Formats: sequence, structure tokens, C-alpha cells
Amino acid sequence: MSEVKKRIPGQRESSLCPCKSELNYGICCQPFHHGKAKPETALQLMRSRYSAYFFRKVDYLVETTHPDTRSPNLKKELEETIHQVNWSFLTIVSVSRGGKDDKTGKVEFIAEYFQGGEPFELHETSRFKRHKGAWKYLDGKS
Ligand SMILES: [Zn+2]
Repeated sequence: MSEVKKRIPGQRESSLCPCKSELNYGICCQPFHHGKAKPETALQLMRSRYSAYFFRKVDYLVETTHPDTRSPNLKKELEETIHQVNWSFLTIVSVSRGGKDDKTGKVEFIAEYFQGGEPFELHETSRFKRHKGAWKYLDGKS
């Protein structure tokens, strides 16, 4: 592992967004990452959190975790682990509620990643809940 460099992938506005929306990053998850807009749906938040993992945006991940389930050590834990994983693909399996008029929502997804050169798959159903109007990640079940 020591020969593997910790490389943060490019974050060009004109690159395709890592969340696999097939939109450019500049009009997909970047406005959320830069605090210029807030996700209107649980799915948008879920995608922007995936691309935040991809770009190692620890602060965004902390900020978008619901205060009810956010561990006080979350930032430290993420900083220690986020570089161990390279995310490679996101597939949305199903979405339940999480719309503009909902207060809660669920997104089932499969996220593919590499760790120590080996491919893995995370199949999770995440729950989202609004906090002060903004969508937050509550918890997940894999
Ligand atoms: Zn995106």
C-alpha cells in the first residue's frame, strides 16, 4: 500500500460529476459542496455525499449528517479513513419519498469502491431526514 499515492481526483467544473448523474460537476454536486445551493431532494443529498466521499470533502460529510446521529468524533473518524477508499461507481436502486414536500426519505444504492487494490461493493439503504429545512443523512443499513 505504501507505494499508492493519496491522490485527490480532479474537481473541474466541466468534468462529469463522480455521482454518475451524467451531468457536469459544476451544475450537479459542486454548488452543494460550495454551499451555493442546498439539495432539494434526499436523492440529491445522497449523490452529493457520494461525490463528497469521492473528493474527500470531510466538512461537507459532517455538515450533512443529521445532528441526531452525528457522532462527536465523526470529523476525526472521516479524516482517518476517507483516504483508504477509492470510490468507483454509484448505482441508485430505489428511492422512497425524500421529495421536495417530504420530511423523510430513503435511498437504496450500490456504491463500488477499491480498498487496498481490491474491489468491494457497499449495498446500503440510507435514511434521510430534514433538519431546519435542509436534508440530512440520518443513518444507513447495509
Ligand atoms: Zn453529482
